[in-house]
Amino acid sequence: MTVPRLEIDLEKIHHNASTLVKRLRLRGISVTGVTKATLGSPEIAGVLLQAGVRSIGDSRIENLETLHGAGILAPMTLIRSPMMSQVERVVAHADVSFNTELEVIGKLSDAAYESDRTHGIVLMVELGDLREGIMPEDLLNTVRGTLRCRNIVLKGIGTNLACRSGVSPDAGNMAELSALADSIDAAFGLTLDIVSGGNSGNLQWAFGAGGTGRINDLRLGESILLGVEPLHRQPIHGLYTDAITLVAGVIESKVKPSQPWGNIGQTAFGAKPAVKDRGLVSQAILAIGHQDTDPEGLTASCGIEIVGASSDHLILNLGNNNSTVGAEITFQPNYSALLRAMTSPFVTKIVRARSTMPELTGANSSRPVQIMPIRHRDVLRESRRQTIRDF
Ligand SMILES: *Cc1c(COP(=O)(O)O)cnc(C)c1O
Repeated sequence: MTVPRLEIDLEKIHHNASTLVKRLRLRGISVTGVTKATLGSPEIAGVLLQAGVRSIGDSRIENLETLHGAGILAPMTLIRSPMMSQVERVVAHADVSFNTELEVIGKLSDAAYESDRTHGIVLMVELGDLREGIMPEDLLNTVRGTLRCRNIVLKGIGTNLACRSGVSPDAGNMAELSALADSIDAAFGLTLDIVSGGNSGNLQWAFGAGGTGRINDLRLGESILLGVEPLHRQPIHGLYTDAITLVAGVIESKVKPSQPWGNIGQTAFGAKPAVKDRGLVSQAILAIGHQDTDPEGLTASCGIEIVGASSDHLILNLGNNNSTVGAEITFQPNYSALLRAMTSPFVTKIVRARSTMPELTGANSSRPVQIMPIRHRDVLRESRRQTIRDF
């Protein structure tokens, strides 16, 4: 089979998403399924919707357009502040967008009016992580300005933590977000529909002992796709951490010294190579590199160590393992490695619509594994239809 390739197991993704949807429902929280790490994959979005997510969120309008083009009909949320140059596309393809600038909201209002649409706004609030967000003291003014815009509906407020600075969502900052929602409701005599507490980094807080207050939505990507929470990158109980794997092919396999020789300068990517002498090692080169993935975000199976990477090569110390030219090696990608592999045209994406998982498929477990390439749009549609039928 073609390498390098991402193998995507839709059944495992469905399991992860529906497990989180059910657990959060008990806490009064709905899920926005985030597809940005999948390049807006219609198949994955379809599975998230089957699993019960309230809406699909993506940071790129291009991805939401792809989803619309593939016939996905679901509430769509643009979870990054719109670019001024894209407001027409945003009102055409997103029902709701996250915003922090009144100037942009004014442009969205004009575009919505021109196209005879209504566009929803979630105002993002800064609560310490120092990425996007209106400072809390400026929030009421921004609400006032938003409410004045024609063809614009204020849907709610939200915040994003744990991304730029790693600030953890906790009882304190989540209570602050709840209180801000209350203060908006009181000041303007309305009831905000959405209070979006954050991303996968909020799960620990959401499943914790305290209440969830006004928070009624979380935007989840990494936890669904990789089964881990991003604050400590620990597996989430009951979720699959291998729903997506990356497979690469061996193009050279030789016993070589572990230490380079000659005068040592910088490497292709600027770093000085680590020179630890381990004598002769069993070294394999795989045809995958920085251009295809984030080599530092890959984990190989036991006993195999990633010792270097360039644009197009990944170098492994195989330890006691054997590997011949043409063999395939499977890796667990982290979020960064997944993101880059998904967006690389050099990496084939293979969707496993059904797998033999007795605990999930029961009587159907003896059915063969179906593997579908998702290179072309028509193939995409076909396999999505199959997936929906299979569930
Ligand atoms: C990427 C993103 C998310 C999803 O984050 P995960 O950690 O993948 O769950 C949520 N909200 C915003 C604003 C994002 O940019």
